[in-house]
Amino acid sequence: MKDFYCTCGQRIYFDNTECLSCGRQLRFDPEQHAMVALTTADDGSALEGEAWLVDEAGHRVRDCRNRTQYRACNWVLSEDDPQPYCRSCRLNKVVPHLERAGNVRHWSKLESAKRHLLYTLIQLGLPVQGPQETGGLGLEFAFLEDSRSNANVRESFVATGHARGLITLNLAEADDAYREKTRQQLGEIYRTILGHFRHESGHYYYELLVRGTDWQSSFVEVFGDPDINYQQALRRHYAKGRTNDWQQHFISSYASSHPSEDWAETWAHYLHMRDTLETASAFGLRVNVPTSTRDIPLQALVDQWVELTVVLNALNRSMGLADAYPFVLTDTVVTKLRMIHQVIQAASQ
Ligand SMILES: [Zn+2]
Ligand SMILES: [Zn+2]
Ligand SMILES: [Zn+2]
Repeated sequence: MKDFYCTCGQRIYFDNTECLSCGRQLRFDPEQHAMVALTTADDGSALEGEAWLVDEAGHRVRDCRNRTQYRACNWVLSEDDPQPYCRSCRLNKVVPHLERAGNVRHWSKLESAKRHLLYTLIQLGLPVQGPQETGGLGLEFAFLEDSRSNANVRESFVATGHARGLITLNLAEADDAYREKTRQQLGEIYRTILGHFRHESGHYYYELLVRGTDWQSSFVEVFGDPDINYQQALRRHYAKGRTNDWQQHFISSYASSHPSEDWAETWAHYLHMRDTLETASAFGLRVNVPTSTRDIPLQALVDQWVELTVVLNALNRSMGLADAYPFVLTDTVVTKLRMIHQVIQAASQ
C-alpha cells in the first residue's frame, strides 16, 4: 500500500480517522484513491445526522452511513453520490446482528480487511462492482454467524467461501483465538482475514475474467481441469493430508486440493506480493515497482519480491520471530503467477 500524509505533514495510515497531530478528520476517498484530511463544514445542506467534510481544495465529501451509525468505516462518498453507503459498504449483502455485544468490533475488523482488499483491486485496475451496478455477475459480501459462536443462530456451520460473486465469511474469523485454533487444526502457515478475502476474490475474478473466455485453455494447461469433482477432490485432500512434494508445484498445501483452489491460492499470493512490494517501495526500501501494472514483466516483480522477503525473514529472525515469508516460489509456481499477472494486465482499466 502507498503511504499517506495529512495536510499538516504527519504520516497517516489507511485505517486512520483523525490526525493525532492536528486534529483534522482523516478519510479514504475512493475517487482519489487516497487518504484525505478534512474539516467539518455543516452548512445545513447535508442529510439529517450527516455533515459535509471539506478538503483543502474545497472539494466536499460525505461520510458513509456505516461511519455515522457504527464508526465501522472510514471511506467517503462524493458530493453528488445519492447512495448512503460508500463504495466498499454498498457491496454488503448481509452483515451480522449488530445489537449483539462484541459484534460491531468483530465486524469492523472484517470491514477493515475488506477495504484493504478493495484498495489493491482498484489499484490494479480490476473492475470492482456489485451486481446492481453490473446487472449481472458482481462482487458481494455476506458476514454470517453460526451456532458455534452464537447459540441464537439457526445455521450450525458457516464456511468461508464464494458462489457467483458472493463472498461469505464467518464472523468468528475476526476472533484471533478462533482463527489461530483453526489455523493449527488445518496445518496452515498463514490464516488472516485479509488472506481469506484475497483468496475468495480469486474465485470471483476467475468467474469474471477466465471462465468461458480465451484464457480458459491456458488455465487448463497451467492449473488443470477446473471441472473435476470438487467434493471428491477436497475429501481426498483432507483425508490424505499433505503430500511431501506439494511445494514443488503449489504455493500452499491447500492449493494442491483442486485446480480452482490452486488458482485462488496463487491469486491471493499475487495480491499479497503486489501490496507488500508497494508498501516497501512507499517506505523507501530498495524496491522499484511502477504503479502501472501494464508495463511491468512478472519476472521483475518476482526478483524484487525474493530480495525483499530475504530481508523480511532476516528482520523477523533478529526479533526472535518465525519467518515472515515461509514460502518457496518454484518455476511451476512462477508460471502460475505469470498467468494471473497476464489476466490482470489484460483486464486492467
Ligand atoms: Zn494532521
Ligand atoms: Zn463505508
Ligand atoms: Zn477457495
